[in-house]
Amino acid sequence: MENVMKEHNQRGEQSAGWGERWAQFKRRAPLYRRALREWGRIHGRRIAHQLHNAVAGNRAAGPAYFLVCAAALGVALTLTTLYSPSYAVTLDGELVGVVADAEMVQEAIQTVEETGSTLLGRDYQVEGDLEYEFALTLRSDLTSERDVQNYFYQQLDSVSGELRQYQVVVDDQIVGTVKDEDALEELLADFKDRYTTENTVSAEFLDTVSILPVYQVEDLMTVREMEEALEENQGGSTTYTVVAGDTFNAIAYANDMSVSDLQALNPGVDINRLMVGDVLNVKERTPVLSVQTVEEVTYTQAIACPVEEVEDSSMYIGDSEILTQGVEGEEQVSATVTYVNGQETERTINSTTTLREPTTTVMAVGTREKPRTASTGSYQWPIYGRITSYFGGRYIFGSYSYHSGIDISASYGAAVCAADGGTVTYAGYRGSYGNLVVITHDNGTQTYYGHNSSLTVSVGDKVYKGQQVARAGSTGRSTGVHCHFEVRVNGTSVNPLSYLP
Ligand SMILES: [Zn+2]
Repeated sequence: MENVMKEHNQRGEQSAGWGERWAQFKRRAPLYRRALREWGRIHGRRIAHQLHNAVAGNRAAGPAYFLVCAAALGVALTLTTLYSPSYAVTLDGELVGVVADAEMVQEAIQTVEETGSTLLGRDYQVEGDLEYEFALTLRSDLTSERDVQNYFYQQLDSVSGELRQYQVVVDDQIVGTVKDEDALEELLADFKDRYTTENTVSAEFLDTVSILPVYQVEDLMTVREMEEALEENQGGSTTYTVVAGDTFNAIAYANDMSVSDLQALNPGVDINRLMVGDVLNVKERTPVLSVQTVEEVTYTQAIACPVEEVEDSSMYIGDSEILTQGVEGEEQVSATVTYVNGQETERTINSTTTLREPTTTVMAVGTREKPRTASTGSYQWPIYGRITSYFGGRYIFGSYSYHSGIDISASYGAAVCAADGGTVTYAGYRGSYGNLVVITHDNGTQTYYGHNSSLTVSVGDKVYKGQQVARAGSTGRSTGVHCHFEVRVNGTSVNPLSYLP
């Protein structure tokens, strides 16, 4: 390609300023635009003409010829899609950029000259020999308007030395711009230092951080503001306040987490006892700029005791007893641990050295079949019905009364069953209880069944869970047929509802 325009300007020659040079360029540019259009017209028409002949069944045009024409047209289309007619712009032989629109260069120069004149308080002009050379350039390789402007700002910067600012870009996201480059470097170093310990072997930003020199930015940040912007959480809200009707599962689902993830973030929370107003952690904080550190650490940890089991036919299956308690061992571990913003994300054990072997724990395990009447440790309802009176103290008509169990309404003669397996330790009439059965379970806990019409067990009987022990009635101090059910732990009555399923 030939030069579209070549202009030389003597340094310091005011009469041939940029405005004049631009005017000269503009005068000549149409000639070249016309030449380019002409070339495209001639070649385009020739290809179209040949293509037309091929389609029209011209004898000279066989299928192979058609293919060649189609290929040529394809190449031409591809070239115009990918490539753009452009100008390589140089200043004193140094490349400023490659632009499709030469006018944009002139506008950039004007902007910089106006800014420079204002800042310096005197007339400022971009100096040097500016040349435009025609070229075909990949569209993706064209220089942006900002970069062209920055090129000229840099020249102004070398004169005034106070214009440059520094823009921080994290993963293609512009965070902001500051003036003080040293303070910015210090801030970024400090970000890494926060997570650095004596064991740290590397500290890196997890994101791509670029610092770009920029000019004439209006909204400058202080370094402190930049710090806040980099620390800002970008993962949305990190907590959730429980409202009526919430369940742990629903909250986990709504936050795109598994229940175990949600539990891990809320170690102190009982997932079955959420209260309205409870605040749950639903996300880790994700600052704009994250730091990944790697530490090499050495520490000691316990080695669990191996367990040796000894069968014991005097004990029930499922029961066990420690005969000899072993002593835990100790080992030294060396590991590589990765953290993101101080939170451990990965741990690789490199080596372990045993400092002290553990000793064996010897445990007796039962082999005897459990009788059906053994306690299971969990209760069932003695009879199913509406609860007409709850456990605990209450005021009725101004006087205090204490109810030692719960009353379950029943129909006369219905089966009252053992809440769990055990031994009948009372079966007979006892004052206000009326006809009462007391069952003592294997761990010493007792259950009471009162007001029965008749009993179906005797003292000393072994009963299994769910076995009938009485028929419902209204004996003793009672109004209406019901079962008074009571649970006593170490002789003290407790709320049966805490034990029933
Ligand atoms: Zn009662």
